Amino acid sequence: MTHEYVIEMREITKKFGDFVANDKINLQLRKGEIHALLGENGAGKSTLLKCILGFIKSISGVITIDGKSLADVRKQIAYIPQVSAVNWNFPIRVKDVVLMGRYASLGWLKWPRKKDKELAHQALCEMGIEEFENRQISQLSGGQKQRVFIARALCHDADLIVMDEPLAGVDQTSEQIIMDKIKELQKAGKTIVCVHHDLHTLKEYFDHVVFINKYVIANGKIDDVLTEENIR
Ligand code: ADP
Ligand code: MG
Repeated sequence: MTHEYVIEMREITKKFGDFVANDKINLQLRKGEIHALLGENGAGKSTLLKCILGFIKSISGVITIDGKSLADVRKQIAYIPQVSAVNWNFPIRVKDVVLMGRYASLGWLKWPRKKDKELAHQALCEMGIEEFENRQISQLSGGQKQRVFIARALCHDADLIVMDEPLAGVDQTSEQIIMDKIKELQKAGKTIVCVHHDLHTLKEYFDHVVFINKYVIANGKIDDVLTEENIR
């Protein structure tokens, strides 16, 4: 049986010491939609994504992904981290970052094959960054770095793609390429969850929005949620 909701969270609470970052979050995110997660700095958006990905421990509450427990499916979720959280001095070439997207399907201690390298190259081409494939990742602009991460997620071929501010600090061209790709992924049946920061593009880019400030402030279709009261 397939589930209507790809992500279901019940009473998700995450504390760092005494500090509550996510407070009793209940959410159901429908399959095949592009979901936006909005909230001020420090509202707990990145933390919530990391809960979905199983990256952080001692969470209370229950998360299921496509009706399954997180432990069974975490490798099948593609993740694009917040650029500000990445150590860009790590000496690695663009094409090797993208190839990392293949490791989830390669399994433990398997070397990438020709086919994997071809898929990585194809993803670079789709994001328009193949000319930079041999560069160190640190030698790219903000928008180009984001496109590298998206290329890596494309290689992963996951049904659920979780992105932490993919449009933060990117140029107009990169934004267009990234959004076109996100819409294309949706047409291919994928579900996308994005932390977003711009109210102006919300309606054009997303189907569904969740506002959080530790807890869920508002949640629903863009028109229903984008009321003056919520924006304030
Ligand atoms: P957002 O992504 O919405 O800006 P975050 O989820 O990154 O917010 O952080 C939410 C709050 O939790 C912030 O106050 C942050 O300082 C705190 N926080 C995040 N990660 C940790 C951590 N590993 N240890 C302690 N506090 C943390
Ligand atoms: Mg964040």
